[in-house]
Parts: sequence; structure tokens; C-alpha cells
Amino acid sequence: MEVPPCTKCGSPSIIFQRYSGLHLCKKHFIEDVERKVKRRIRKKRMIEQGDKIAIALSGGKDSSALLILFKKIIKMRKDVELVAISVDEGIAEYRPKTLEKAKSLADKLNVPHIIRSFEDVYGNSLDELVEKAEKRYGWMRGCSLCGVLRKRLLNNISREIGATKLAVGHNLDDEAQTILMNYLRGDVERLLRLSPRKEREEFIPRIKPLVEVPEKEVALYSLLHGVEIEHEECPYASESYRFDVRDFLNYFEMGHPGTKYSLLRGYEKLIDMIGVMDTLPKEFFELSSCVRCGEPTSGKMCKVCEFLEKLGT
Ligand SMILES: [Zn+2]
Ligand SMILES: [Zn+2]
Repeated sequence: MEVPPCTKCGSPSIIFQRYSGLHLCKKHFIEDVERKVKRRIRKKRMIEQGDKIAIALSGGKDSSALLILFKKIIKMRKDVELVAISVDEGIAEYRPKTLEKAKSLADKLNVPHIIRSFEDVYGNSLDELVEKAEKRYGWMRGCSLCGVLRKRLLNNISREIGATKLAVGHNLDDEAQTILMNYLRGDVERLLRLSPRKEREEFIPRIKPLVEVPEKEVALYSLLHGVEIEHEECPYASESYRFDVRDFLNYFEMGHPGTKYSLLRGYEKLIDMIGVMDTLPKEFFELSSCVRCGEPTSGKMCKVCEFLEKLGT
């Protein structure tokens, strides 16, 4: 079977985008990804003069692509600084390999790299925390525990090094899944909080430059830039609700190309229409300080401390 040539130049194509109807060669595919990311960065004003941008680098395909893209995009700008930060959660067999990849990519691109571990900061590795949880309660979802602890750590490292933004590698699939999950659960509050707002100064603003690029294309972009794709999944990955939503969305996208994009666009239109920032009562976004660690929280104690307290650490 013959593969149709690149719609733009007639060279052999390497990908077919069902949602756009385009066949693209390597050169035009890379151009297309970079155009989408640059457009997103401009639209959301993600890079400003004098920024010091922390890049959350796990060593996987998404965050590797993010670092490569950023390095290219700010090549000409002397006024923007990049720092890669990685969190070592302490997951035996799995994490050391991806951390090694993160380290070598940062080295190769000549970007300063900071690694901080759960062990150093929380006194226990994720493996140990999960073991404690199992002894005490018989069961705990390692994935959600890890997510909360990692998010806090990334924010704190960014704050410590004086970063003005924290860039994360969420792609279109991640974002579409999160939006749909919140709709399906009827969690309007969380849905609204997804979009950027005026935060307390303790929070470093998070930016997601890859949300307009489908997961498959982020993977291909990484691959074309020499990143080895890890197929092994984290042993604690157990977000069954998200996995169901992912399968549903992929199935739907097959029959109706462009669905993931329209989910994202529709959500953004909604946020624009209701003008979240102006109409919601101030209390909605107001936070108090955690009684245990002092970090901002909507309740008395933050999620991180809640977990740690439960586990007696
Ligand atoms: Zn081409
Ligand atoms: Zn706390």
C-alpha cells in the first residue's frame, strides 16, 4: 500500500493527522508541532521578559519534548532563563531509569538541572510511604499520594530558585481527559480551578505549552529528536477512572476526528464567557494557611500534610 505524500511539499509523509486531513513529512510535522506550541505560548503570554522558567522534567516523552521545544523557542532570547527540575519519588526499578534520561537530556541541551527526592524532603521514598499505608490501612492509592507530594515539591523547588513560571508537559490528551473527568464527576469547582487565576504568591504560576499537541504527536516529536520512549508504566499507575475516560475519548476521536480539540476549545470558551475571574465570589479562590506546614490550603490542613499525618510521618 502506498503512503500518500506530504500535503505541503510532496515528500514522503510520516504521519496522517485525521483531524486536519494533512499528511506531513518529517520537516513539516516538526514545523506544525512547533507552530502550535508557539501559538499557545503567545496566546497565553507564557513567556515574558526576564522570566526564569522551571521545566518539570520527568525524563518521559512529554517533558523531554517540552525541554527540547523550549530550548529551541528561546534560543534567540537572552532575557529568559531555563532550569530543569526533576523529582525522585523513590520508585525502585522504575524511576532511576527515567531520571538517568532526564539527566542526560539536560546535559545535552546544556540546561541546569536540579533533582530533589521524596526521601530528602518527606523523609520517606514513595515505596516506603506506600508500604506504611498498606500496613496501617491495608490499601492506599500510590498514584494519588504521589501526585499530591510531587506537585508540592515542584512548586517549592521553583519558588526556592526564584522561578517565575513552572512549565509542565501536559499534552492535548491529558487536558481533554481532565476536562471530561471533571464534567462527568460534576466537579464544577475543580473544572473552574483548572484555568489560570490570580494565585497567592506562594504558588508559582504553572504553564502548559503542549496542550494543543496530541499525545501521539508529542511522542513522535520526541522520537525524532532522539528521545528513547519508555514503554514501561509506573507500577503505581492506577487511575482507573482516567483510563476509562482515555479509552472512551480515543474511541470517540477515531469516529469523530477533532473531538479532543473541540473539548478543549469548548471548555476555554466557557471560561471566557463566564469570565471566571470577575464573577466568582472572592471566597472561592481564597485560601488559608495549613496549620501544620503553613502552605496555602482551602481547608485547615493541606492535602500533603493530611497524607503525611495519616501515615505518621
Ligand atoms: Zn513536507
Ligand atoms: Zn500542610
